[in-house]
Amino acid sequence: MSNPSILILPGDGIGPEVMDEVRKIIGWFDENRGLKFDLSEGLVGGAAYDKYGTPLHDDTMVEAQQVDAVLLGAVGGPKYDDLDFSVKPERGLLRLRKEMDLFANLRPAQCFDALADFSSLKKDIVAGLDIMIVRELTSGSYFGEPRGIFEEDGERVGINTQRYTESEIDRVARSAFELARKRDSRLCSVEKANVMESGILWREVVTKIGAEDYPDVELSHMYADNCAMQLVRAPKQFDVIVTDNLFGDILSDCAAMLTGSLGMLPSASLGVPMANGRPKAMYEPVHGSAPDIAGQGKANPIACILSFAMALRYSFDQGAEATRLETAIETVLASGARTGDLLGPEGGTPISTGEMGDAIVRALGESLR
Ligand code: NAD
Repeated sequence: MSNPSILILPGDGIGPEVMDEVRKIIGWFDENRGLKFDLSEGLVGGAAYDKYGTPLHDDTMVEAQQVDAVLLGAVGGPKYDDLDFSVKPERGLLRLRKEMDLFANLRPAQCFDALADFSSLKKDIVAGLDIMIVRELTSGSYFGEPRGIFEEDGERVGINTQRYTESEIDRVARSAFELARKRDSRLCSVEKANVMESGILWREVVTKIGAEDYPDVELSHMYADNCAMQLVRAPKQFDVIVTDNLFGDILSDCAAMLTGSLGMLPSASLGVPMANGRPKAMYEPVHGSAPDIAGQGKANPIACILSFAMALRYSFDQGAEATRLETAIETVLASGARTGDLLGPEGGTPISTGEMGDAIVRALGESLR
């Protein structure tokens, strides 16, 4: 049987720098845990535009559809700000998500003990926090028609449409129920059924699936505005949250920031299962290409490394190895090692991107002793 395949798309700015550290981690698992992957590389974003005049070459798109997982760094940068919208680096990313039909976006918000002081909230509110937000990614108000800016009664009107079909709600809800089953078996579905018909349908569909197929998962419902309040008031009440594209965009950023730096936040985007049973999948850090620190060895590679941990867990069924990697990161942070973004107001001496990767590899080695 062939090895599972990963397409690596480092992208722009700090993308290639943090991806170098992920390669070290992949190498460690290959040498020490017998986890073999067939790796291939491609260009995306500005890097692809520079070479091909498009932010994603068709051949790269075809390959992304065939591999078991795509690992992406980040795209974009000031050099590309004046490009036509159709060839901007971000279009490459959106094309991947759209054509791979990655409808479930998983954004964990986990507070590492060593960084609990880093949150803008009090330590006891965030210490031990471990929640997962599942955001619908391919429908809702970012895609619904009609959309545009039109003339009406002598003035312009901007229109976007919140639109969800039953099947779109069904598939993302099932992903969230499955995930909840693997965690603490609690799912909170978030919409605004009090003022939106799409929210009423959302609640009906999720309730029906829960009752029929996931009676073991404790299901609750919450309005999106209340959820935003609860996330900053008492975030540990949640296990898994499932919500639509627009609310998910906002709530996942809010939840993520409870835990500190952008440099710590991974994500996974999953689609329908392929013939081998694995879901189509793309893993990427939440942060962008950070042009202000690119090329200086200052980037924190942990978000990208944690994205690989998610790939181990959700694409390759290697939950124990994913936990090993997360524990190694916790150990390194507990030892006091910090990239610049993780230094608090009291300061300290930052380590480089490469040094952080090396420290995590060493901690992985120690996990075998
Ligand atoms: P950004 O996430 O790139 O940076 C925001 C701030 O966080 C910067 O000060 C940066 O130095 C810091 N930061 C981000 N990641 C870090 C890391 N790993 N380690 C240390 N510090 C880190 O967001 P931005 O500045 O708004 O956008 C820069 C470019 O990235 C833009 O072109 C934007 O379109 C693009 N972008 C891409 C993605 C993506 O590829 N998924 C996401 C967001 C933004």
